[in-house]
Amino acid sequence: MNLVIRGGTIVGPDTVFRADIRIESGVIVAVGEALSTANATIIDASGCWVGPAFVDIHTHLREPGREAAETIASGALAAAMGGFSAVVAMPNTEPALDNVPLVSYVLAQGAKTAIDVAVAGAITLGRKGESLAPLAELAALGVRLFTDDGTGVQNPLVMRRALEYAAPLGLRLAQHCEDEQLANGGVMNEGVLSAQLGLAGRSAVAEELMVQRDIALVRLTGGRVHFLHLSTATSLAMVTAARLEGLDVTCEVAPHHFVLSEEACRTFDPQFKVHPPLRPEADRAALHAALSTGAIDAVATDHAPHTPELKDLAFDEAPAGMLGLEHVAALTNEALGANPVAFFNLLSRGPARIAQLRASDARVGLSAHGGVIMVGEDANVVVFDPSQTWVGDRNALHSKATNTPYHGRPLVGRVRSTIVKGRLVVHEGVLQ
Ligand SMILES: [Zn+2]
Repeated sequence: MNLVIRGGTIVGPDTVFRADIRIESGVIVAVGEALSTANATIIDASGCWVGPAFVDIHTHLREPGREAAETIASGALAAAMGGFSAVVAMPNTEPALDNVPLVSYVLAQGAKTAIDVAVAGAITLGRKGESLAPLAELAALGVRLFTDDGTGVQNPLVMRRALEYAAPLGLRLAQHCEDEQLANGGVMNEGVLSAQLGLAGRSAVAEELMVQRDIALVRLTGGRVHFLHLSTATSLAMVTAARLEGLDVTCEVAPHHFVLSEEACRTFDPQFKVHPPLRPEADRAALHAALSTGAIDAVATDHAPHTPELKDLAFDEAPAGMLGLEHVAALTNEALGANPVAFFNLLSRGPARIAQLRASDARVGLSAHGGVIMVGEDANVVVFDPSQTWVGDRNALHSKATNTPYHGRPLVGRVRSTIVKGRLVVHEGVLQ
């Protein structure tokens, strides 16, 4: 299939310019003005930003084990609608992705979808935090990111050993930072509001202590850590300081932490329950402000589908987590204002670098993501209209689950087209 994307604004790593793009056989073959549209499907991108399709490094696809909430196939459709050409599947499935057959299964199922599905392997067997998973064997399958997400590695000695083992293999460990003993089973942020509402709190210090601990372990071991879904100003400040020191640490923020604050919990609506929890307004505002400073490497969804049977329980009984894939681009656009360079750096280039998806990997059939729009690049491209307004609708999602906190919320900016490996997967906002 030949494609010509016409009349859009191409967004590079630090510049924007007007040009058409021609795509043939999965590759960008021309970038320039008034390109020939012979034998090509034309995509009208006037008024739109055109850049590398998005990469989500934090997607819970729930397969195997909880296919009633999401499958690799349904999650891939939601991702494509959200403008993603690649996602990294989190390993907290049932059973956990801690061995070669299971990781191979997810990669094989992912290869049947229209997007690229990479896998994050578990750091420890069964995500129990006790003994290390076979990181080298999984790395041989192309796994580059490892995490016990859902929980952090609680035992500091286990985390140290994991860092020492992973460093020479060139692998990065991703941490869900919360000390479980300090979090103490809490269901929302610990503070005045949790006391008022009579809900058990999870303290910010539960997160911040583990961030501090892991920075110390990176300093000790020379390893690499990626901090998942940072939610407080203090966490972010510690990571910023560690980078200035020269440590190889990266971090992401989830959209709900810069869009929503703990005030949402006043409704007792379990859609707002998430770990780490929604924080006070001051933290939300600090993360929001940091989006455009370069302190945050990636916006990552922490897309966490749950069935209504589970999610519609009372606030303190419902599982934590919310959907993200289909709304994150609009929420990030709204938060950044007219800042296309930061937009693509946070949603595509930064996450692709962290997940080592910038180069293609023939062993697992993954193409290159998060690159520059230029001749010879794999054609993973998104056309995004930054000014289109729409309203979040849980009944219009492509995910199997409906647990979005953005139902009925006005949104600004929408994915028009998603092109994956040269194939038009979403056209004019509709799945093809
Ligand atoms: Zn997590």
